[in-house]
Amino acid sequence: MKFSPDQIRELSAQFEGQHPRQILQWAADQFMPRLAISTAFGPEGLVILDIAMRKVTPRIPVFTIDTGFLFPETQELITKIEKDYGITVERLHPDLTPEQQAAQYGPELYRREPDKCCHLRKVLPLQKKLPQLDAMITGLRRTQSATRANAAVLQLQQTPDGYRYLKINPLVGWSKEEVWWYIVSHQLHYNPLHDRGYASIGCTPDCCTRPVQPGEDERAGRWAGTDKKECGLHTFAANI
Ligand code: SF4
Repeated sequence: MKFSPDQIRELSAQFEGQHPRQILQWAADQFMPRLAISTAFGPEGLVILDIAMRKVTPRIPVFTIDTGFLFPETQELITKIEKDYGITVERLHPDLTPEQQAAQYGPELYRREPDKCCHLRKVLPLQKKLPQLDAMITGLRRTQSATRANAAVLQLQQTPDGYRYLKINPLVGWSKEEVWWYIVSHQLHYNPLHDRGYASIGCTPDCCTRPVQPGEDERAGRWAGTDKKECGLHTFAANI
């Protein structure tokens, strides 16, 4: 890592309130080619992609984690995005298919032990990918949930196996309304499940993703009825 923790904190403070384009341009200048956008193609990811591809450079690699439980609507959206920007999205896969996981751990692990399922199907594939990168761009926002309220624009992170990388959150200070304003005003493709009440879209099991009711938190439909709030992708590494 070319920056010390103190330099990262200073830069992060300077980036507060700056347009995501400036942050993405800095990221591209500093870290290409060891830089990538990580997205599950939620609204924030779509905004990041549009700014990065159209205003910075379409050469920033993009990856997603294909858990084997993605909604068909999400798969179709990824195909549209690839066509729109002329890019190929890298799909990271877990070691086990859903069928192999069921054979090894029993059926519906996601219902019985969702943390373990997320670790196998999301965290481990990301952890395997990270040594190829110095920096990873995400669509994390502070107002998405209490667990994200203290996120910074730049977060120096260390994985449990000791790998250090920079997490870059260009939309950290945006509201949900700003994100949707961007999507609508730029006529971006988005997941049609949002129009059916799904505020945050993950995997297909109903215990992992359900629509939210008016007034509910935007992540209330994720692992509803449990204490689980995060899949682990934003929490498995420690801030330095
Ligand atoms: S969201 Fe559900 S199905 Fe997807 S990895 Fe996590 S527990 Fe498994």
